[in-house]
Amino acid sequence: MQGLMMDMPLLVSDLIRQADRHHGVTSIVSRTVEGGRHEYNYRAAHARARRLANALARLGVRAPDRVGTLAWNGYRHFELYYAVAGSGAVIHTINPRLFPEQIAYIANHAEDRALFFDLSFVALVEKLAPQLPGVKHYVLMSDRAHRPPNCSIPNLLCYEDLLEAESDDYVWPRLDERSACGLCYTSGTTGNPKGVLYAHRSTVLHAYGSSLPDALNLSARDVVAPAVAMFHVNAWGLPYSCALTGAKLVLPGAALDGKSLYELFEAEGVTVSAGVPTIWLGLLQHLKANRLRLSSFKRVVIGGSACPPAMIRSFEEEYGVQVLHAWGMTEMSPLGSVCTFRAKHLALDREERYAVQNKQGRTIFGVDMRIVGGDGKTLPHDGNAFGDLHVRGPWVTNGYFKGEGGDPLRSDESGAQWFPTGDVATIDADGYMQITDRSKDVIKSGGEWISSIELENIAVAHPAIAEAAAIGIAHPKWDERPIVVAVKKPGAEVSREDLLGFLEGRIAKWWMPDDVVFVAELPHTATGKISKLTLREQLKDYRLPAETGAARK
Ligand code: AMP
Repeated sequence: MQGLMMDMPLLVSDLIRQADRHHGVTSIVSRTVEGGRHEYNYRAAHARARRLANALARLGVRAPDRVGTLAWNGYRHFELYYAVAGSGAVIHTINPRLFPEQIAYIANHAEDRALFFDLSFVALVEKLAPQLPGVKHYVLMSDRAHRPPNCSIPNLLCYEDLLEAESDDYVWPRLDERSACGLCYTSGTTGNPKGVLYAHRSTVLHAYGSSLPDALNLSARDVVAPAVAMFHVNAWGLPYSCALTGAKLVLPGAALDGKSLYELFEAEGVTVSAGVPTIWLGLLQHLKANRLRLSSFKRVVIGGSACPPAMIRSFEEEYGVQVLHAWGMTEMSPLGSVCTFRAKHLALDREERYAVQNKQGRTIFGVDMRIVGGDGKTLPHDGNAFGDLHVRGPWVTNGYFKGEGGDPLRSDESGAQWFPTGDVATIDADGYMQITDRSKDVIKSGGEWISSIELENIAVAHPAIAEAAAIGIAHPKWDERPIVVAVKKPGAEVSREDLLGFLEGRIAKWWMPDDVVFVAELPHTATGKISKLTLREQLKDYRLPAETGAARK
């Protein structure tokens, strides 16, 4: 017997329609690429998204054409999210920090039919255009006044001209909820980038799930500033979840340095933000150096790579900001787990609570997790056993765009299909998952694993260390030995021996790094994470002290 409930598709266009109807006067503020501040509301955004949908139809963009974007976090990018997906096409957000050859590969692989780009990327698009035979329309996300003279981009169109020519009389089509709405490429360490293709259904469910109180806890009383780019897994879904909840949205444009974020947060009364640890390092350094306070900021979502415990302490103790340590990946839309307390944790003392918060947290309903040993068998959730982390759920991918890389899924003992994340983790009896490493970053010494994340977390707890990365260096006897590569805080002094002394006693003896290398800065990936791949390349001629004859700890 079937239930007698309406069968309504879950569609991205319903999110903006909901925001218009129930939160129409709630603001969307942007720091624009042209300079200055732009403010309007969900009602106006919805009207402009409908005009844009008409413009796309006039350009011949149809379902399921792909529309590429090279753009920062701003209101026009927000409109594109809804106009492209809402009309049945697929929004393909491209990371402009990738190498031009990678961008060309991605845009061609996706078969982008149109490319929308911010003013900051005119020179990049001029360079790319000859390599993009499939792109029929180039649209500058600005007005005529900002159109660059003598630009070589073929048939360049202006976003505001397109909108001006259209009416907002557009009815969002009732699409199949399983149809594609967004595409985001993820770069592995080997091979070409792979496309993750989101569906309307998965996107709306992710927006639901990620707004829950034990997830990002979003509401119509929040002012949310995504400090994660809209080209990095859809700014972790915030442009969708903010529309769903009716939160005020503050889009910071291209400037994500500590000073810019601080000024924006204070000016707009931001209560919630989200980003990778490197972004928050910049904000904390700016606050400290200038003895500043945060007056409205309440919750910071930190993910994308492990949040160092020292960062959690600093936010909570010095600035009264609650840290939500979150874990996910492009293939998961991206949210998998968030670290929030259970009732029993509230009775714990501060130190015990920090021990909980260092974990990547519990799954949100909709994501299931398991850990698997080398023999492919599911491991117990006892907080000690660690293995490859597998996930499943309605917003987890079941394969890459165009079948790239083959079938990634693995079956369990019952035949259920799981996506292997490439992370190594423990899960405790309360369901809290903790990542010990990305499997390719694990340091293997004498047949045992050393957690690079744990070494890094302790190193950055040293008052003079700003950022640190632990990597394995080949060793003739032990296979690999760990070293710590560290950046000092501005004006701070610390020696190799000081840092090794700080680590001693905090970790097992055989985990002790063989060396500390100080560098002016660490390399970061296009999404702001420490790039261990580049770091290993940079240190390819490095030799461990024992091998060079120097004294070894
Ligand atoms: P991406 O798809 O580029 O967002 O990268 C996803 C990967 O980032 C995950 O598989 C993890 O290796 C890493 N990651 C994300 N969040 C965290 C976190 N909170 N702690 C540790 N690693 C994380």
